[in-house]
Amino acid sequence: MENIKFVRNENPKAKPADESKLGYGKTFTDHMFIMEYDEGQGWHDPRIVPFGDISLSPASMVLHYGQEVFEGLKAYRTADDRILLFRPDRNFARLNDSNERLCIPAVDEEFCIEALKELIKVEKDWVPHSEGTSLYIRPFIFAADPFLGVHPAKKLYYMVILAPSGAYYPGGLNPVRIYVENSYVRAVRGGTGYAKTGGNYASSLKAQDEAEKFNYSQVLWLDGVEHKYIEEVGAMNVFFVFDDEIVTPALDGATLPGVTRASCIEMLRSWGYNVSERLLPIEEVVEKYKAGKFKEMFGSGTAAVISPVGELKYEDLVMTINNGEIGEISQKLYDNLTGIQWGRLPDEFGWTVEVCK
Ligand SMILES: *Cc1c(COP(=O)(O)O)cnc(C)c1O
Repeated sequence: MENIKFVRNENPKAKPADESKLGYGKTFTDHMFIMEYDEGQGWHDPRIVPFGDISLSPASMVLHYGQEVFEGLKAYRTADDRILLFRPDRNFARLNDSNERLCIPAVDEEFCIEALKELIKVEKDWVPHSEGTSLYIRPFIFAADPFLGVHPAKKLYYMVILAPSGAYYPGGLNPVRIYVENSYVRAVRGGTGYAKTGGNYASSLKAQDEAEKFNYSQVLWLDGVEHKYIEEVGAMNVFFVFDDEIVTPALDGATLPGVTRASCIEMLRSWGYNVSERLLPIEEVVEKYKAGKFKEMFGSGTAAVISPVGELKYEDLVMTINNGEIGEISQKLYDNLTGIQWGRLPDEFGWTVEVCK
C-alpha cells in the first residue's frame, strides 16, 4: 500500500470547551481517513483529509441493500498524556470477519492500524482530558456502485471518523432495567449476527424503541430459532454470575464476538473464576433466581465497558438482581478494564497499544 496522502484542514474547529457536555457521537474532529476500492485495483488512494460531507450517487448500493460494515473502538488519554488504543488488532480482525460475511473485499489489518495511528496523531489534541472521556473511533466500509442490481459491490469506500466522547457514567456506574424480548429477534444463526453490520442495528430499532416507551433501557435478546437461549443485551454481550459459575452465551453465529467480552473472560479466568461459554436458556436463569443463585448480570461493550443490570423482567416475573445495585464482580471488572484502558493500572495482558506521547 502506498503512502498516506495528507490534506490539512485549514479551518479547524474550536475544541469543545466543556468536556462534560460532549455526549457521544455528535462532535467530530477536523480530519477523516478515506481509501477506495475498485475491482481490479484493490484498495487504493489512502488519504487523511478535512472532515466533511461526501458526495454519492442516489443509486449507491449501500443506500438500497445495506452492504456495509463498521467497527467501534476508543483512544484513551493517560494521566501522563500518552494516547492508548485497546486491542485494536481484535477490531480489525473482526472487521475482516464482517467483510467476509458481507462480500466486502478484505482490508490489510496492519495497514489500517497504522493509518489509524497516523490519523490519531494528527488529531491528538482532540482526545479529551477529563476523567472517563475518550476519542471514539468509527471505521466503516460501504458499497458505492451506482447500480440497483443485487450483487456484491465493485466500488467501496473505507473511512474512519473520530468523535470525542464524554464519560459514559458521569454519575458512577448505574444499574439498568431490562426485559426479555419475546417477539422480535435481532439475528439468527446463519444470518449476519456475528458481523458488525448496520442491518443488525436496523432490525433491532423496533424492540429498542418499545423498550424505551416502557421505561426500560434495553432488551435481552433470545435466539431467533427457538426463542429460548439468551444471546445479547441491547448491543452488548451479556454475562450472568451464578453461585459458582459465570456464564456468557457461546458464540453461535448470531452473537457478536465482543472485544470487551473476550477481555472479561480472560480477566475473570486469570482471577480464578469458573467462566463458561455455553447455551443459556432463559428458564435456567429463572430457576437460578428462584433458588437464590442469580447474583449478578451485566452487559459488556466498548461504549459502557460494563453495564450492570439491576432488574430483569421475563413475562410476569420481575427479577431484582443484587438489590438493584452493582455487584462485586461487575465493579471489579469495570475497575480493572478501565484501569488498563486509561493507563492507571499495569497492562499485564499486553492489551494496550501506544499511539503517541
Ligand atoms: C459491537 C457490539 C458488541 C460489543 O463489542 P465490543 O467489541 O466489546 O465493543 C456487542 N454486541 C453487538 C451487537 C455489537 O454490535
